[in-house]
Amino acid sequence: MADQFIDLRDKTAFVTGAAQGQGAAHARTLADLGARVVLTDLSEPAVRAVADGIDGETLACSLDVGSTSAWAEAMGRAADRFGQVDVLVNNAGILIKEPLTELTEENLVATLRVNLVGAILGMQAVVPLMRERGGSIINIASTAGLGGYPGGLAYSASKWALRGATRSAAGELGPLGIRVNCVCPGAIDTAMITDETRAGGGAVAGQPIPRVGTPSEVAAMVAFLASDAARYCTGQDFVVDGGQSS
Ligand code: NAD
Repeated sequence: MADQFIDLRDKTAFVTGAAQGQGAAHARTLADLGARVVLTDLSEPAVRAVADGIDGETLACSLDVGSTSAWAEAMGRAADRFGQVDVLVNNAGILIKEPLTELTEENLVATLRVNLVGAILGMQAVVPLMRERGGSIINIASTAGLGGYPGGLAYSASKWALRGATRSAAGELGPLGIRVNCVCPGAIDTAMITDETRAGGGAVAGQPIPRVGTPSEVAAMVAFLASDAARYCTGQDFVVDGGQSS
């Protein structure tokens, strides 16, 4: 049974981009498995609405992941409320589709700021809170970080780079008992995909499992990596993509 194998009752989890989509699913799943959950996103009212629907101990905070000072404030609020953070899910992300020849510097920098710099700042912010007890950092990359696709240059570059940052951090933090892994979702049914993909078109049509995934199917992997069941797993990519990249 998942609730015996994956037991998060002694853990506090911190999730970014939790106001909707996969982040909201991660927060709900981690709470269902017993974790206290800090839900963060750009809009505090939006993330509080998700937190209010969770049956468990939660804290809702605004956090722009690209801001070092915002990370310090949100981690401070988490520490004041729960005394510890054991799990960080760097889930916040943006997708701006522009081909190389049309990609603006502004959109390139914005993508890297959220998808890459935001996750790195999060890892830096959480380490002091994990030093004593160890912990698990889960960086949400993408199958776009395993390949490339026309129009997805900035996004793909940010997710490839996040995989590199994950491996480097895993090497540095492993001796402290802090594990760092990536989850690479394929097409998941959130605001980030098109109606064509949602209907089973494009890359999804050729997958071994020819449908988009659900946020809860990714959350199951996040919950495993958050738990002590994954205590020997670090520096890896865990792909949840219906076989798209196989
Ligand atoms: P989504 O657009 O529904 O959610 C993204 C969330 O990130 C939103 O709540 C948004 O407000 C938040 N966010 C954006 N910028 C932020 C910032 N600066 N600070 C804090 N929060 C910010 O999309 P989703 O599918 O739930 O995306 C979750 C993660 O999964 C992202 O990292 C995305 O790149 C990744 N991903 C998505 C898919 C997919 O098919 N949906 C596939 C692979 C990877």
